[in-house]
Amino acid sequence: MIDYQFDRDHIWHPYTSLTKPLPVYGVTKTQGCEIHLDNGQVLVDGMSSWWAAMHGYNHPVINQAMKNQIDNMSHIMFGGLTHEPAIELCKRLVELTPKGLDKVFLSDSGSVSVEVALKMAVQYWHSQGKPEKTKIVTPRNGYHGDTFAAMSVCDPVTGMHSLFSGAMQQQLFVERPTPRIEAQWHSDAINSLRKTLSDNHASIAALILEPIVQGTGGMNFYHPEYLRQARQLCDEYQILLIADEIATGFGRTGKLFACEWADISPDIICLGKTLTGGNLTLAATLTTNKIATGICNGEAGVFMHGPTYMANPLACAAAIASIDLLIKNDWQQQVNQVNQWLKQGLAPLSDNPHVADVRCLGAIGVVEMKQAVDQATIQRFFVKQGVWIRPFGKLVYVMPPYVIQQDQVAKLCNAIKSYIEQLS
Ligand SMILES: *Cc1c(COP(=O)(O)O)cnc(C)c1O
Repeated sequence: MIDYQFDRDHIWHPYTSLTKPLPVYGVTKTQGCEIHLDNGQVLVDGMSSWWAAMHGYNHPVINQAMKNQIDNMSHIMFGGLTHEPAIELCKRLVELTPKGLDKVFLSDSGSVSVEVALKMAVQYWHSQGKPEKTKIVTPRNGYHGDTFAAMSVCDPVTGMHSLFSGAMQQQLFVERPTPRIEAQWHSDAINSLRKTLSDNHASIAALILEPIVQGTGGMNFYHPEYLRQARQLCDEYQILLIADEIATGFGRTGKLFACEWADISPDIICLGKTLTGGNLTLAATLTTNKIATGICNGEAGVFMHGPTYMANPLACAAAIASIDLLIKNDWQQQVNQVNQWLKQGLAPLSDNPHVADVRCLGAIGVVEMKQAVDQATIQRFFVKQGVWIRPFGKLVYVMPPYVIQQDQVAKLCNAIKSYIEQLS
């Protein structure tokens, strides 16, 4: 029995109130692309548990890898010790990520991997005799996590900067990346970034962005040329480029990493979310030999970070199994297939007067409404329809597991269609 009363009285859920909690649904089991509720209902999963469960849930191969690992060793400190799961995982990350990203720092969550990336950038410039390079530049509409430094580079409006402004480092914001991915490139789109870098480069350590897909900050799919020119500008003005691929990594956008849309390598990359296939929390920050050497030849002689659960062997084992499965499964074919099904199901909604825009990229489908939806109402509606879709603001979106079947995608799309059609 799920003790809903205790949950309501004592436990915070993400971005919610404890005095006016929104309804929650009790989950008893997950399997494949399905979520089982305690009332017996089975929901088709449209969220992959926030970009994480790319192979669906309870995958037998990943489960077996975790069982083998747990019988051997769940955790051991990483200071002064090492182990095969960490080494095998890092071999794969070095091999698969864009060229040059050869040095790996493992941590426990996406936000922490962003903190690590920002510290790497600042420590690098300190080591180069430029301690004044500490500011971070970032496009508006971005999302990089909920810890303080990560929050300082989230969109200043939707990221609720006003609440924390006194407690947070002030960063530099540029216009959100445009044009859209399928639109014609125009050179004005990079002006805001160019001007900010040109005016402030002496105090800037890094540019951080989400390549091609700005996720939580608005599901904005932007033009690869923006990313290509951002890379060039960073080189020109001696600024490190940090690619936050926590949401986009491992095939979600139709490329293994979204940086590949522009054929660029960042100086630092952040990975998380689906790194373990959605099974355990783990993140990685990778950088180049040049940055790593710079940091380690600097005043401190070491990189100043080291989480207690660094390189947790159980999480590493899940990540290895998940990555091997991704490659073996022909993810590109899976993602392209999901993309076609999403387009078929969602494109017809673009004519509806309540809908501002419909867009799909890789295994992501977005219906942008003209008005913000009421979260509790729409959630109840979707659950009644047998799907798990969790909209925010004006965005009704899905990013299902890559292994989802055609009839399941149709069910997700039909639920969205029914919701929109019953609006008066
Ligand atoms: C989710 C997300 C993060 C934060 O990751 P957590 O594991 O929730 O801390 C950072 N950046 C991007 C792009 C994300 O989507």
